[in-house]
Amino acid sequence: MNVLIIGSGAREHALAWKLSQSPYAEQIFVAPGNAGTDEFHTSCAIDIHNFDEVAKFVTDFNIMMVVVGPENALVEGIHDYFQEKDFLRDVLVVGPKKLGAMLEGSKDFCKAFLQKHNIPTARYETFTEANYRDAVEYLRTHSYPVVLKADGLAAGKGVIIAQTFEEAIDSLEAMLRNHKFGKAGSKVVIEEYLQGIEVSVFILTDGKEYVLLPEAKDYKRIGEGDAGLNTGGMGAISPVPFVNEAFMQKVRDRVIEPTIRGMQADNLEYTGFLFIGLMNVNGDPYVIEYNVRLGDPETEAILPRIKSDLFELFLALHDHKLGEFKLEIDPRTAATVFLVSGGYPEGFDKGKEIAGLEQVEADTLVFHAGTKRVDDKIVNNGGRVIAVTGLGDTMQVALAKANKAAEAITWTDRYYRRDIGFDLQKQPIA
Ligand code: ATP
Repeated sequence: MNVLIIGSGAREHALAWKLSQSPYAEQIFVAPGNAGTDEFHTSCAIDIHNFDEVAKFVTDFNIMMVVVGPENALVEGIHDYFQEKDFLRDVLVVGPKKLGAMLEGSKDFCKAFLQKHNIPTARYETFTEANYRDAVEYLRTHSYPVVLKADGLAAGKGVIIAQTFEEAIDSLEAMLRNHKFGKAGSKVVIEEYLQGIEVSVFILTDGKEYVLLPEAKDYKRIGEGDAGLNTGGMGAISPVPFVNEAFMQKVRDRVIEPTIRGMQADNLEYTGFLFIGLMNVNGDPYVIEYNVRLGDPETEAILPRIKSDLFELFLALHDHKLGEFKLEIDPRTAATVFLVSGGYPEGFDKGKEIAGLEQVEADTLVFHAGTKRVDDKIVNNGGRVIAVTGLGDTMQVALAKANKAAEAITWTDRYYRRDIGFDLQKQPIA
C-alpha cells in the first residue's frame, strides 16, 4: 500500500522511518518533506493546504493511507474533505475530522469539553472584546500567576503566564483590543496557574477504543535550565521516570476514559492520535491541553520505542480493532536532542552546510526537520534543523548517545541544549 505523510518536520521523518520498516508499506511519500525524507522516501512539493492538490496527488500515485503530521491541515478539515469525495472515501486518513480537531484548534472548545466531561483541568473563564470589562474584573480578583491563552492556533506563542495584574492586563489588551494574534486571539481563556511537572501522554483512538503509546517529556525553552523564549521543542525523553503505574492508572481513569466517552457523547468521530498535555500536581493529573496529532520532538523519542508495526496499528485503527492490539514497547530510554539554527526562535541564517551527518553510531537515529539539499550538500533551512535520538538501558546512556551525535553534527552557529533530561535525573523516582 502506498502512503502519504503530510508535513516537513522531524516528526514526519520519524513517521516515514517507522512506516518504512513495515512489509505493508510500498512507496512512502512525504509532502512537502525535507532533505532527510528525500533520502529514503519521496518528498513532493505539493501545497498541503490545497486539498484539491493533495487529492490529485493521492489518486495519481494510488495512495491508500494519508497520515497527517501537523494540526493546521486537520483543523482546516482535510479528513472531512476526503470523506466528502466519493473517489477518496476508501483512503485511510490518520487524523481527526474538523470537529475533533477543535480540541486543539480552540482552547475555549477544549476547556468546555473538559469541564462538561468532568476531566480535571485548571479553572477558567473565556472572554471576548465585548466583555473586556468583565475580564479586567476577573483578573483583578484572580490569584497570581495567572495564565492567558489566545483561543485559536498561535504556534505555541499564544500562551502568556502573567506574574502580576499589570502584566495580565497588558496581555489581555494586546490580544483582545490590539489583535496581536489576529482571529486566534479574538477570544481569551483565562485560567488558574497549575504548579507541577508536565508530561505528555499519547493515545491512538477511533473514538471508541484506544492504544496507549509511550509517554514523553519535552523541553520547550531555548535556554539551558529552562530559560528564555519558548520554542517548538528542544528535546524529549521517554519514558518519564515519575510516571509510575499508580499515576498512569489515574490518567486512564480520570482523563483517557472520560475523554473517549466525551468524544462519543459529543459525536466527535475521532480517528487518530491524541496528545494529552498533563500537569502532574502532587501526583494527580490535570489536562493542560489536547493536541490532535503527535508532538514534535516527542515523536522522535516515542516511535523508536515502539516495536510493533506502525502500519498494522493504523490498519487496526481503521478496522476498529484497537482494543485487540497488543503494542510492544522497547523498555529502553529514548533521549532526543534538537539541533537548531543560532538565533532561533528569533531570526537566524539559512543555507549553511551541515557536516557530520554520516557519523551515526549504533542505537542513534538522526531525523531531519528544517533541512534542504542544495546540489550535493545538505543545508539548514529552518529554525529547528536536526533531531538526534539515542537509545540506552538507562537515561544516562541514552543521553550520552544523543549528545555525542549532537556534538558531531555541525554548521555555523548551530546550537543545542546540553541539559535535556537533567531535571528528571534529579527527580525522586517513585
Ligand atoms: P504548544 O503549541 O506549545 O503545545 P499551546 O499554545 O497549545 O502550546 P498550552 O499547551 O495550553 O498552549 O500552553 C503552553 C505551555 O504553557 C504549557 O506547555 C505549560 O508549560 C504552560 N501552561 C499552560 N497552561 C498552564 C497552566 N494552567 N498552569 C501552568 N502552566 C501552564
